Amino acid sequence: MKAHILATVAAAALLAGCTTTPGGEVETMAQASIPEGTGYFASDSTLPFKAPDFTKISEDDYVPAFEQGMAIHSAEIQAIIDNPEAPTFENTIVALEKSGQMLGRVATVFFALTGSNTTDRLDAINTEISPKLTAHGDSITLNPALFARVKAVYDNRAAMSMTREDAKLLEDTYEGMVHAGALLTDAQRERVKAINTELSEVTTEFGLAARSAMADQPLIVDTKAELAGLSDADIKAAADLATEKGHPGKFAIALQNTTQQPLLPTLTNRATREKLFQLSFHRADGQRAKDTRMMLAKIAKLRAEKAALFGEPDWATYAMWDRMAEKPKTALDFMEQMVPALAATQRREAEVLNAAIKKDGGNYTVKPWDWYRYANKVKAERYSLDEDAMSEYFQMDKVLEDGVFYAAGKLYGLRFERRTDLPVYHPDVWTYTVFDRDGSELGVFYFDPFQRPSKRGGAWMSNFVDQSKLWNNKPVIYNVLNIPKAPEGEVQLVSFDNVNTMFHEFGHALHGFFANQMYPSLSGTATARDFVEYPSQVNEVWATYPEVLANYAKHYKTGAPIPQSMIDKIEEASKFNQGYDFGEVVAAALLDMKWSALSPAEAAAIDTPEKVDAFERKSLEDLGLEIDLVPPRYRSTYFNHIFSSPSGYSAGYYSYLWTEMLDRDSRKWFMDNGGLTRANGDHYRATVISQGGTMDYFEMFRNFAGRNPDVTPMLEARGLVTEPK
Ligand SMILES: [Zn+2]
Repeated sequence: MKAHILATVAAAALLAGCTTTPGGEVETMAQASIPEGTGYFASDSTLPFKAPDFTKISEDDYVPAFEQGMAIHSAEIQAIIDNPEAPTFENTIVALEKSGQMLGRVATVFFALTGSNTTDRLDAINTEISPKLTAHGDSITLNPALFARVKAVYDNRAAMSMTREDAKLLEDTYEGMVHAGALLTDAQRERVKAINTELSEVTTEFGLAARSAMADQPLIVDTKAELAGLSDADIKAAADLATEKGHPGKFAIALQNTTQQPLLPTLTNRATREKLFQLSFHRADGQRAKDTRMMLAKIAKLRAEKAALFGEPDWATYAMWDRMAEKPKTALDFMEQMVPALAATQRREAEVLNAAIKKDGGNYTVKPWDWYRYANKVKAERYSLDEDAMSEYFQMDKVLEDGVFYAAGKLYGLRFERRTDLPVYHPDVWTYTVFDRDGSELGVFYFDPFQRPSKRGGAWMSNFVDQSKLWNNKPVIYNVLNIPKAPEGEVQLVSFDNVNTMFHEFGHALHGFFANQMYPSLSGTATARDFVEYPSQVNEVWATYPEVLANYAKHYKTGAPIPQSMIDKIEEASKFNQGYDFGEVVAAALLDMKWSALSPAEAAAIDTPEKVDAFERKSLEDLGLEIDLVPPRYRSTYFNHIFSSPSGYSAGYYSYLWTEMLDRDSRKWFMDNGGLTRANGDHYRATVISQGGTMDYFEMFRNFAGRNPDVTPMLEARGLVTEPK
């Protein structure tokens, strides 16, 4: 989840050079032309750990601080360019890394609050300031005079003596600017600009059309009988929607963004199920009023052309430059490895569902519109889970202190002390000092658990202060969740899902706390998109580890330990229906990669709507998945993640699967080596979660596990085995 907020702040607070780190005194750059900032954000916080002093920040501070922060940053960049001395690592790369401190300070606090405790005023400032921050970022990344100095240092790198981290900072700075277009000729740059404009237009058009295909094409049925199975409330909502859409007296079911539709399992009328599914599946492929096929073909073609201008064979290669997987082939091979087990599981699951249909008196075989109806039935029979009864064992403060913190103590030797002296942005935020294995202070942890209207959905982690030796900063880290708050006076319980989320987000926090870097832009969680979710996922394993569970999961009234049978059921249920649940995600990820890996000639050849259909079909069929049983979670024609913005998650949808592979393989390593031990924790810390973005991720993994990552543990964890059970 970190990636989302990180991306926002990084995009807002610049790609090259600027960090989101509140740092020490801005280095005097000799040039007198650098303006002085004023107000709270002009200097570091004087609180312990430079933690933000929310008692001193008012909403009036942000706009002037952003304006001043950008002006100072621009002047600092100009000073680097104007430096009469020849470019060196120190006077160019490090100077760039040090620039933008005030902007970083204001952006860090501002984007933390717009996420977790926003107001109308903050939202309005966000709308006003975001395009200015983007333009400011571009003015640095695309500055030719600055690039000339960066390139001079880069070209001389073989002759320089640098630490590994110095070398990585230099490489990232240089490659980041090259990726933005610094090496292009003027003519190429003009063409890239034109492509960007076209991409921006056509992706917006796609997004609107896909949205309209969903919102403006509800399923309309004439009679209530066709909606049998739905609750009275759902039927009333359907009648209201029909009236709203100009069909009074009829019933309407709105489409959701995925191929599967949430009401399908409840509808008992098979014909209605099929109609709803077919409408969803064909919502934008020309079989109804909407057709996005030529839009997405154009997007694929423009992206391939843009990649070619950068000398890359395809869009995926261009987009994946800073990823762990790096090349589309690596991601494709990885996914293709899963196909045999996945397809076998899909066939096996279909047989189970066919038996359930037969038992139910049906004389047909399962189709996608029947799938969840029968899967849910079988699941309820096999694993009846009472989630409310379960949550009685999960008292929030115990989960945090006796579960999450306890595991971190056992593994890494950490100790936590609640503190009440630091100002917080909302009374429900708790703070802790984190002490390291040697007793020294490691950093500060903010825990902001509850749902509230001023918070966006989901859960995430980020830093108020990034660890960095450059500024002598220790990490100040927050976890934000959306746990429904118990009524006043009642014990705060949490669902098992939220227990997992607490362990997950704290896994990101550990990645931040164990950062041991010189430079903030390489520190802690500043890692690739297909890597950053890995340490957080690994930390989830301790939620159900017997020793940890015994320490925190006790009934809030009786103190009785959670029955092992409850935990076993969860583990078993998590392997159920993976042929579909996992299969539809794999199909979507493969489709994303196939569209992204087209050469310019291949992309240009897909020039009719029929060829779009054929390409999609062939891409999926070639793989051997049972696509008529388990279609992709999104078809190309409504795959917003990859087609509704100029880059978005294109060539990146596989990341979820990739980090899961790293996660599951690492869990196996822990279990093979004795589980929850200090030796294991110290080894993981030393090899992976203290390394930030300073080295090749495969090398990092090999240092940890002694070999390359293997997909088998992930397949096993999801119950995807080739031989029938
Ligand atoms: Zn996460």
